[in-house]
Amino acid sequence: MQVALEARGLTKEFRGFVAVNDVSLKVTEGSIHALIGPNGAGKTTFFNLLTKFLQPTSGTITYFGRDITRMSPAGIARLGMVRSFQISAVFADLSVLENVRIALQRARGESYDFWRSEKVLARYDGEARGHVDDVGLSDFVHHRAGELSYGRKRALEIATTLALDPRMLLLDEPMAGMAQEDVTRISALIRRIARNRTILMVEHNLSVVADLSDRITVLARGEILAEGDYATVSKAPAVIDAYIGA
Ligand code: ADP
Repeated sequence: MQVALEARGLTKEFRGFVAVNDVSLKVTEGSIHALIGPNGAGKTTFFNLLTKFLQPTSGTITYFGRDITRMSPAGIARLGMVRSFQISAVFADLSVLENVRIALQRARGESYDFWRSEKVLARYDGEARGHVDDVGLSDFVHHRAGELSYGRKRALEIATTLALDPRMLLLDEPMAGMAQEDVTRISALIRRIARNRTILMVEHNLSVVADLSDRITVLARGEILAEGDYATVSKAPAVIDAYIGA
């Protein structure tokens, strides 16, 4: 398997404070890779660097061998690397199906104009229903997005992200604030999505990380503390001290 995403020596300083310090990371194509670590470890900053929401102070990022260090979030989205919320504004007053149709329409670069013509939007019905089924919302196609449970709303967000046909998905705490029932559903969904995609996620729920991840990178104080599968990283004394035992 080739390397989907690679960071080399990424560093981010905020007015002299080094939030991410010389971090190198490889995410293998087709894998689920998790980024964990205690609060303040630099996870969000690192994630923002990878997804181009922040520019690094130094270091490089490549995506399938292509240098994306200076690219914009929109630029990398066009290459198929998509952050979960990037296009996924969910419209509370519209139905699940309408939300996904609009996402498809926007992904095709058509003007963002959902009043315009039912006929235009109807072209996307078949494809939209496919994504709705994929994320387990078949029974909710005509429900207003605003009426969905929190977990189902996140599933809808993922459906609108899938509308971009991403090759790699970056998920920022996909389980945050979820009830256990939703965690189980979204875990199954992530596993399904990962069958033909690469996933990098920041996630606090350690049992989810243990269950889903092929590889885990543990960050602390802006540096990599450990890396490997869950069995390996959970045994590392430095990880137990800095994170799991905390
Ligand atoms: P995590 O997501 O692991 O909790 P963050 O990446 O949010 O960690 O933060 C890492 C460190 O960088 C923290 O000490 C935080 O205060 C600092 N930091 C993050 N963003 C900024 C910023 N824009 N300006 C200054 N310091 C920042």
